[in-house]
Amino acid sequence: MLKIDNINTYYGNIHALQDVSLEINEGEIITLIGANGAGKSTTLMSVSGVVPVRSGSIRFQGEEISGMDPDQVVTRGLVQVPEGRRIFPQLTVRENLDMGAFLRRDKAEIAKDLEYVYELFPRLADRRNQAGGTLSGGEQQMLAISRALMARPKLLLLDEPSLGLAPLLVQQIFEIITRINTEGGVSIFLVEQNAHMALKVAHRGYVLETGNVTLSDTAANLAADEDVKKAYLGL
Ligand code: ATP
Repeated sequence: MLKIDNINTYYGNIHALQDVSLEINEGEIITLIGANGAGKSTTLMSVSGVVPVRSGSIRFQGEEISGMDPDQVVTRGLVQVPEGRRIFPQLTVRENLDMGAFLRRDKAEIAKDLEYVYELFPRLADRRNQAGGTLSGGEQQMLAISRALMARPKLLLLDEPSLGLAPLLVQQIFEIITRINTEGGVSIFLVEQNAHMALKVAHRGYVLETGNVTLSDTAANLAADEDVKKAYLGL
């Protein structure tokens, strides 16, 4: 579904991604784990077109998407939930959700998706007229995921969805991620510092170290790997 081949991304002179290759098959949850500054967010932003790649190829459903604008990428069904949420604080929950669907014209289907996200996150339904900026951190994260779902993604790019959340909420967010994958058939590219949870929900994973993919395996094998345990699972 998504095939990244030897991409190189720079910030000025900083070579943030060095020949990174990875792929996601239809229906999969894959996770990219790594330390702070390893290049996880940069990988997602390279895919979504927010940060340009200098070389390499990114193919989504057979089509080359590197070099496209973020809007063009979204229209193809590849939607990113950025780290730090970035919802519109002045807009209500409902208006934020409408923004997620702004590239779509299929009104009846949009209405169905709105019902679906309210069912996934009843808390957002209760707060539909509340300004986004007044939501709690966890609720803003729910809104950011829901807004992305309103774009009807085929592949959802999630950047640190558990960041800053209380343990119970972390658990809930990961359950929802699994539901979005199994019920909605949405493939998921999950970037996480919480490697423990990420490897529980993902089918496969990649380890990124200073801009290089150093390991890739099934999530179960990574979770059992001695180096991964030491470096990322605190065991
Ligand atoms: P974290 O978990 O801390 O978010 P990350 O793995 O997502 O880390 P990135 O944010 O992708 O890492 O950063 C990769 C490298 O690129 C880091 O060395 C970072 O300092 C650098 N970098 C990221 N964004 C910029 C930028 N806008 N300008 C310059 N350097 C940047």
